Amino acid sequence: MTSSFPKRLSEGYRSFRTDSFARERQRYDALASHGQKPTIMIIACCDSRAAPEIVFDASPGEVFVVRNVANLVPPYAPDGSHHSTSAALEYGVLQLRVEHIVIMGHGRCGGISAIVNDSDPLSSGDFIGQWLSQIRDVAQFVERDSGNSEHHHETRVERANVEHSLANLRTFPWIRQREQRGELSVHGAWFDIALGELHVLDDRSGDWSMLEGADPA
Ligand SMILES: [Zn+2]
Repeated sequence: MTSSFPKRLSEGYRSFRTDSFARERQRYDALASHGQKPTIMIIACCDSRAAPEIVFDASPGEVFVVRNVANLVPPYAPDGSHHSTSAALEYGVLQLRVEHIVIMGHGRCGGISAIVNDSDPLSSGDFIGQWLSQIRDVAQFVERDSGNSEHHHETRVERANVEHSLANLRTFPWIRQREQRGELSVHGAWFDIALGELHVLDDRSGDWSMLEGADPA
């Protein structure tokens, strides 16, 4: 059986070539010659509705992005296993020397919902079950408030998960050191898919609030 390349992608590619690539030709030339030098790293979910480059209107070369299911940062564990997120962090921090790391969670996250509602596919033998088990400890400490909806509870777990990933970031010795020296800042963010709003975490107070000055036209 032969399969053709997805039509949606070939059409999108043609549009990219004639539109944004043509317009940003010089930027691509410079990036190819001099390499990338992004100052911001973003860790986001794989969810197709929460793409950081779209939310932050980023151009090529501006943000170093790693995406995984439920935007998780596992704790520092130099145990010889295949840690893709930790490898990306190591490259971003030690090689690219990014100045900011943003953990970006989002609303209606399927990974969070699966843990909160204990739904499939979550067997501990599956990759995804194993991966998402990292959230279980976080979720059990978020109390259910009977006065609020299930959706509201999931939002609280999504945000607690971002806070937990921030704490795990600080278990990496080279992240902790650079943060202490003022060379690196870490940030928590949460994107509301329905409203297109970005909320950010105030690290000192622990409060979340919407980023100001961005009303849609
Ligand atoms: Zn998600």
